[in-house]
Parts: sequence; structure tokens; C-alpha cells
Amino acid sequence: MRITVLSGGVGGARFLSGLRAAMPPPESSISVIGNTADDIWLFGLRVCPDLDTVMYTLGGGIDEERGWGRRDETWNAKAELAAYGVQPTWFGLGDRDLATHLVRTQMLNAGYPLSAVTEALCARWQPGVRLIPMTDDRVETHVVIDDPDAPGARRAVHFQEYWVRLHAPVAHSVVALGADEAVPAPGVVEAIKDADVLIVPPSNPVVSIGTILAVPGIADAVRTTSAAVVGVSPIIAGAPVRGMADKLLPLVDAEVSALGVAEHYGARRFGGLLDGWLVDQADAADVAAVEDLGLAARAVPLYLRDPATSAAVAAATLALAADLAT
Ligand code: GDP
Ligand code: CA
Repeated sequence: MRITVLSGGVGGARFLSGLRAAMPPPESSISVIGNTADDIWLFGLRVCPDLDTVMYTLGGGIDEERGWGRRDETWNAKAELAAYGVQPTWFGLGDRDLATHLVRTQMLNAGYPLSAVTEALCARWQPGVRLIPMTDDRVETHVVIDDPDAPGARRAVHFQEYWVRLHAPVAHSVVALGADEAVPAPGVVEAIKDADVLIVPPSNPVVSIGTILAVPGIADAVRTTSAAVVGVSPIIAGAPVRGMADKLLPLVDAEVSALGVAEHYGARRFGGLLDGWLVDQADAADVAAVEDLGLAARAVPLYLRDPATSAAVAAATLALAADLAT
């Protein structure tokens, strides 16, 4: 069975660790198309937070509590940079993590595309999935906010500044700069077209899944694949489990609810992206309305608390896909 998953950072990675446990190789192969619109250049280094979260989580190197970055991390380089007074000081660059960005940047500077670099980094981490960036081209999410330094004015900031430095203030619009001209990385469209099951995990619908789908050719591949396409709600009882999806969903005219996100993605039979949708038990009352959208729907526990709950969510996702395929 070939399974392909579109993934952001923490939500995607936690789902994937459950999926890998629920469906161990060699019976299955899992391809992951990772969001790169969170990427940022810092101190001359290319940082890919979502790719690294997936790689570290599946490779056993993640700090489980934070959900990002390396376990047993130290922060000496960050403190030294701050002592020099160099900006930005708000981004968490740990000493261990820095090695990843150094290797990545060195390879990029030598001319390798990000997809090849990611494959090389994964040779160390052995994530048990094929991790492919959505594109080798530069795409960056920027968010328009009220300028904190100039009352009455607005300013566009990089997504990382919006989230990490400013803690998600009110946003007026969000744009994936460069997405229109980006090309899917080698293997991305094939991984969607050749899949038996395509999964949209509980990643952020706007700045993780939305940016992947914004790369020309990817959404079309999702619409036309012969795979069953199933999604898992990142919204439980009207709120994101973590992160800022509640601030960003209104910008794409989506309601902050499991039903609202289902409506945002839409049913493939009506030109949308999904065939099936899982909501949490807390949203069981939404199942009928999700089905009215043209989606197969089920309510199951959707908190990804630990390996066992993640594996159960993944198993429920595969079960829904299996029912759709018959
Ligand atoms: P990020 O790139 O690190 O922000 O991670 P993702 O985009 O992959 O995932 C963020 C989304 O995951 C948020 O919208 C959260 O609501 C959702 N999420 C986080 N933890 C859970 C969980 O335990 N269950 C579900 N259903 N969603 C979750
Ligand atoms: Ca992210």
C-alpha cells in the first residue's frame, strides 16, 4: 500500500509517527510532502522548520515536549549571537539544530536542490518515510498585521516573525510569496497520483496544507488522483489544539470548526479536495453536516497525545480510506 501525506510541522509529524506505527514497512511505503513556506534564512543559514520537525520526530531526535527542535538541546550559539547584538534574537536556534542548517546550507550553496539535500539529511535520521519538500523553489508565507511600531499602518512580516516573535496578533491577510511561480519538487506529483491513499493530516489548513496546495499542479493532482483522499481535523471543539489556525482560518473565509475546515477543503465529487473527513468525538454532532458536503465522515478521538493515540488516529484514517476504496 502506497500512502502519501501532505504535512506541516508538529500536527503532521505526530500523525505520521502514529501512521508509521499503524502501518509498518515493508507492507507499506509512506511518502511525505512537506511544507517549506515556513522556511527562513537566518544568519546566512537556510532553516526548514516543518521538514526538520518531521525528520526529527520520525528519526527519534525531536524534543517531545516542545514538539520542535532537538532533544537535549543547548543554546550557546544563540546566546553568543545575542551578545554580539545581532538580530533576530527571537528565533530558537539550538546548537545541535544548527548543525542541520549548516549541512543544508552548505549543500544548497554547492548547487544541490532542497529535495536532494533533504534526502541526504534523512540518510542520517532514517525517518522510515520518503520526505520530499513541496518545492525546490523559494516560497515564503508572509502575514499582514497592524504595524506594532507605527499606529494606523500595516506591515507584512515573515510567518516566523508573526508566530514566534509576535505570538500571532490579529492578521489582515496571508500570502505565500513565490508560490505562483514555484514548481513541485521531483516526485511530488507522482507521489500524489500513484498513491493508494492520500492523507491530509491535522496540519494547519492555511499555512501548512494551504501553502503546499498553492504550488501549481499539486491541488490538481489531489483532485484527480485515483487514491482515496482523507483528512483529519486540526480543529477540535471549535479551537486548534495548538498553534494559530484560529487567527488564520477567517482569512480564507473558513469557520474555526471541524465542519468549517471540511467545507474549506470541500468534497472531490463537487470539485474540492477530499473524499473523507475525521472529526473528534467532541464534534460528533457535525458528522451529518460534513456528510451533507459530500464527504464520508466519522467521529473518533483525535488528540495525538502519545504513540498509542497517534496510532489509533492513523488507524481510523486508514479504515475510512479503506471503506471509501470499496
Ligand atoms: P506546525 O507547522 O508545527 O504548526 O504544525 P502543523 O501545521 O503540522 O500542525 C498544526 C495544527 O495541528 C494546528 O492547527 C493544531 O490544531 C493541530 N494539532 C496539533 N495537535 C493536535 C492533536 O493532538 N490533534 C489534532 N486533531 N490536531 C492537532
Ligand atoms: Ca509550520
